[in-house]
Amino acid sequence: MPMETITSDNQLAVHGFYWRELDGIRALICAPLEQDGFVNGFSTRLGGVSDMPTKALSLAGFNEDRAENILENRRRFLKLFPGEWSLAGCWQVHGADVRVVNAIEEAKPAENQLGDTIYCDVIVSNVPQVLAGVKTADCVPILLGDPVTGAFAAVHAGWRGTLASAVLVAVGRMRQEYGTKSQDLRVAIGASAGPCCYEVGPEVIDAFTEKFGDTGLFASTRPGHAKIDLLKANTDQLKSVGVLSQRIHVAPICTMCRTDLFFSYRKEKTLNGKVGRLMAVVGLTPR
Ligand SMILES: [Zn+2]
Repeated sequence: MPMETITSDNQLAVHGFYWRELDGIRALICAPLEQDGFVNGFSTRLGGVSDMPTKALSLAGFNEDRAENILENRRRFLKLFPGEWSLAGCWQVHGADVRVVNAIEEAKPAENQLGDTIYCDVIVSNVPQVLAGVKTADCVPILLGDPVTGAFAAVHAGWRGTLASAVLVAVGRMRQEYGTKSQDLRVAIGASAGPCCYEVGPEVIDAFTEKFGDTGLFASTRPGHAKIDLLKANTDQLKSVGVLSQRIHVAPICTMCRTDLFFSYRKEKTLNGKVGRLMAVVGLTPR
């Protein structure tokens, strides 16, 4: 592996992250978000039971993997977080609709349903023992915590979700539901397809330019195409509503560069026909 693709633990620490590992399951933890009172983690592909291609920790995608595999993988992943948890997810549709979880009974999928049946890409809550979780494979997973009110949120933002300002919808809903102030927020952005790899075409470039103007998100590659920086796009959005840059932590890892650690839809879908799903979760630290 070329030296520049190795992300040292020291580099991770500089950005506020560290690895947690238990029984071969590994997750990236945002230390400042944890210190602010929020259990959090971004999964890797290591240590599971799915054939993607082997021993993979795929945490969602009931149409591409056996339910028993996904449920066993989730059980292993959740062991990284001491305490009793109910996982609240959603059927993600690359939009900016919000699910508010008001009680622990609401968190779990409906009876007789394996996966989540609520269509959304943002989950907010302030309920103890609820873990808000979003699934990704290249898209940007964003976790938010407000140490003042105890509100938290998980956001799934690929290019469509970023274009729809999903992360700002999360901030706005946290303000509306819990009185969250932007400057109190702590934000962790996990591994995703980075500006080093994520090439998009004219439909994406035009849509962003039309909505946001020239924001320096694109690096031209070939006619009509450019690499997009969704990390910058999301951090710019957060800063535009008063979230402090020193309270935004971005994991310095690209899922397309590091398919040894993460699932990448763009790298693996055509190669293997199916792709595992990572999960990012956040909840209140048990007291
Ligand atoms: Zn990359």
